[in-house]
Amino acid sequence: TLPVLAVVGRPNVGKSTLVNRIIGRREAVVEDNPGVTRDRVSYPAEWSGRRFTLVDTGGWEVDVAGIHKRVAQQAEVAIELADAVLFVVDATVGSTDTDEQVVRLLRRSGKPVVLVANKVDGPAVEADASALWSLGLGQPHPISALHGRGTGDLLDAAMDAL
Ligand code: GDP
Ligand code: MG
Repeated sequence: TLPVLAVVGRPNVGKSTLVNRIIGRREAVVEDNPGVTRDRVSYPAEWSGRRFTLVDTGGWEVDVAGIHKRVAQQAEVAIELADAVLFVVDATVGSTDTDEQVVRLLRRSGKPVVLVANKVDGPAVEADASALWSLGLGQPHPISALHGRGTGDLLDAAMDAL
């Protein structure tokens, strides 16, 4: 069976956009409304001749009722089943309380984590990406999932983690 790379993070940070970028198709549902991807969805993917399974997850809201709780559980399951995790943060927003709660869960999981600073569409946002060193997950990888900026370097790092 192929190694599993899970994409997690709170709603609207660009997880599904990144998944589409990596698989080279537009299958993952991208929405301006947060929380649209409700369940785990797996896609076959490949980078540098290595094949792996890429898992998109719903956004993460901790301790909220209803559908969001189910979404959080799906993300938790995805981390459990993953060999490595791409943890996506919106660099233009910076780290939120929700992000920090996810960080604690990722730490507890013991899984290798690659920190993704998304929405770095241009050099003006690079400094915001660097601020994410404060999450304590090592180097933030600045990317624009929308435009493809930095995604090659990110995938190189992900293959090292996998
Ligand atoms: P998800 O909820 O984490 O899966 O986020 P989506 O992939 O659905 O994206 C949420 C919104 O962010 C959409 O409007 C995307 O077009 C937008 N978005 C995603 N990646 C980027 C990016 O790199 N730059 C910018 N400017 N917007 C992005
Ligand atoms: Mg999504």
